[in-house]
Amino acid sequence: MGETQDGEAHDAVIVGGGPVGLCLAVLLAQLGVGVVVLEARPERLRHSRSIGIHPPGQRVLARAGVADEVAAQAVRIAEGSARTLGPQGRSREVARLLLHPSVLAVPQWRTEEALEARLDRLAPGALRRGTRAGGLARGPGGAVVRCEDGVTVAGRWIVAADGARSPLRAALQWDRGLPVRERRLADSYVMGDFADETGDGALAVLHLEPGGIVESFPLPGGVRRWVARTDRLWVDPTPRGLARLVAERTGARPDPSTCTMLSAFAVTERLAGRMVLGRVLLVGDAAHEVSPIGGQGMTLGWLDAEAFAPLIAADVRAARSGRASAWPELWAAAERERLASAALAARQARLNMTLGRPMPPGAMAARNALLRGVYRIPGAAGLTAQRFTMQG
Ligand SMILES: Cc1cc2nc3c(=O)[nH]c(=O)nc-3n(C[C@H](O)[C@H](O)[C@H](O)COP(=O)(O)OP(=O)(O)OC[C@H]3O[C@@H](n4cnc5c(N)ncnc54)[C@H](O)[C@@H]3O)c2cc1C
Repeated sequence: MGETQDGEAHDAVIVGGGPVGLCLAVLLAQLGVGVVVLEARPERLRHSRSIGIHPPGQRVLARAGVADEVAAQAVRIAEGSARTLGPQGRSREVARLLLHPSVLAVPQWRTEEALEARLDRLAPGALRRGTRAGGLARGPGGAVVRCEDGVTVAGRWIVAADGARSPLRAALQWDRGLPVRERRLADSYVMGDFADETGDGALAVLHLEPGGIVESFPLPGGVRRWVARTDRLWVDPTPRGLARLVAERTGARPDPSTCTMLSAFAVTERLAGRMVLGRVLLVGDAAHEVSPIGGQGMTLGWLDAEAFAPLIAADVRAARSGRASAWPELWAAAERERLASAALAARQARLNMTLGRPMPPGAMAARNALLRGVYRIPGAAGLTAQRFTMQG
């Protein structure tokens, strides 16, 4: 257990109060671990950001005691449709996937709100907003996080849940170095949330078009998220620009005046070679940033939390009772499993992106005909749905 300069003691200090840091904090607090979460942002962002919660993510939210609350605010996506524009400009279905169990779609801030409220009930005041961690050093009985306001916070365990750019991960170069494999991929996208006038209800739709894929997903409150592949990163995206692109490729006409969120991004993949360095742990995007296409990042991070929380809790219990608590084989097995899971998600996301790249119309028609044939094979659609929903 570590000491802060004002005399508080913490079993675990989590840097980053995003969805993964908050979820891990809840799981640890439920297991009796004294936890504090340092979050740089004074207020929660109210952007929809990551929306898709796959079945394994729902399982972790259930463990954290917030599944019902999150589900009550979500749209349940039980089917996906792949479409293409036919010769008369009419949309035709290439394949339909049944998603069972279904995927939840809910704005990220709502999920974070539920986790934050749960944490506050279990460990009032554990989340410290407006506290930016600036560095990391070895400390007595663990490590010490230096905050930018000059305060140092010590913990038996330090967890970097500080996102894809992870300042803590950078600070970890104190050791033999932490290998991070970074790839900048050739794919870029623009996405935005608009009033849903498609009539597609709770259906997720992939438009496989020669100019590049357009995806659309339902959100609560009659909103639909549109994501379109672009041939280069849009530096200055506008709702009108995205609406025009969607209309050109799919025939659907989102109304730019209803746009509530807009973002353009290029895809970078970053996979750390290790997640456990002594008693410093990396989780979520700090350990593995995968392409948002496929929407697996948040669920991956929650699975890290589910894997490591019991190990941290067991170590803390052992330390409290003066017992040795290394269990290196358990830690190594958990780390191996989580790194392999991240690598699989990264490969799946690359495959998803390949499917969405532009193609000459003739090649696209042939590819779509092939897909149509493949999905008629009994079991093929089910297997694909399993991979899309992180169950394979
Ligand atoms: C466009 C887009 C769409 C996506 N859609 C999905 C989806 O549908 N489903 C899905 O599963 N995933 C999705 N993802 C991925 C998902 O957003 C991330 O994987 C997820 O947010 C990672 O959570 P995290 O808690 O690890 O990191 P973050 O969400 O990045 O949270 C990190 C937190 O750490 C804080 N922080 C950073 N530095 C410091 C510091 N020095 N001190 C204190 N605090 C600090 C930040 O303020 C932030 O709150 C999407 C990503 C993008 C970009």
